[in-house]
Amino acid sequence: MSAVLLEGKPLAENIKSAIKQEVQALGFLPVLASVIAGENAGAESYAKSQKKSAENLGVEYQFHKLDAAVTEAGLIEYIEGLNADKKVNGIIIQMPLPAHIDYKKISSYISPLKDVEGMHPENIGKILFGKAKIIPCTPAGVMELLNSTGVDLYGKEVVIVGHSEIVGKPLALLLLEKFATVTVCHIGTSKAGKLEEHVKRAEILIVAVGKPGLIKGQWVKDGAIVIDVGINRIADKIVGDVEFEEALKKASYITPVPGGVGPLTVTMLMRNLIEAAKIQS
Ligand code: NDP
Repeated sequence: MSAVLLEGKPLAENIKSAIKQEVQALGFLPVLASVIAGENAGAESYAKSQKKSAENLGVEYQFHKLDAAVTEAGLIEYIEGLNADKKVNGIIIQMPLPAHIDYKKISSYISPLKDVEGMHPENIGKILFGKAKIIPCTPAGVMELLNSTGVDLYGKEVVIVGHSEIVGKPLALLLLEKFATVTVCHIGTSKAGKLEEHVKRAEILIVAVGKPGLIKGQWVKDGAIVIDVGINRIADKIVGDVEFEEALKKASYITPVPGGVGPLTVTMLMRNLIEAAKIQS
């Protein structure tokens, strides 16, 4: 058996068409403000790709570049200015921030109404109650990929590897909302030598760790759906966390890396922006 490739790009293109129509229906130009503190080539190139994607959808993308020496208080004041700016519908803080700035602290100053990354405690809290309109981008993208397979999540054995606040934890809540049976594995699971046994019983396996080859292809259950969120650069290649070639032989669906989850993450950011603009209007 060879799995069907779950490619993010075509799915992202469909969602973008819907977003374009929603932008037109808004009747005003939505604005996304992107804040970069200091010099970082990676953050700048990521922001540039967001800008391209925003402009293709008819969204205005503003760069706000601050000095690397900006203080936490200075950055908070800047964010509060963007919160108060009626033209700005969404705010994103590019990572990494200079070492003296605590991202968690800073991100809680973004108005929850403009928090297009969905990481404000109020928006995360709404996921817990099943009432979220703005959902963290990568988990939202994973849910879209799963949805595209037509799988009914009700009662499915889902194993998530990685419990970060940005991927694993919110994803677990979103899947619980669909009545999946969710197991979340993390470093403790690996250290206890139990990762393999959990992975082996996953009907749906989602891996977001950042360690190439962590998940052996042999561990993948026959017919499982495998979503590999991991991004690892090895020499000039980008690979995920799952041994792809081996897993391909066992899974029913598998995301390629790159080209699986990645294209959806930025698309979900734009969807959140439109949602935020609707909530504000
Ligand atoms: P984090 O480093 O925040 O989280 C990694 C998680 O993996 C932690 O929960 C960590 O546990 C766990 N972990 C580490 N080692 C092991 C192990 N040996 N066994 C089991 N669990 C382990 O990373 P992110 O969640 O931000 O990102 C994860 C990966 O996904 C990265 O490769 C990142 O680049 C990629 N990514 C891709 C995106 C996309 O759009 N495709 C978007 C976001 C992320 P603990 O904290 O306890 O050590």
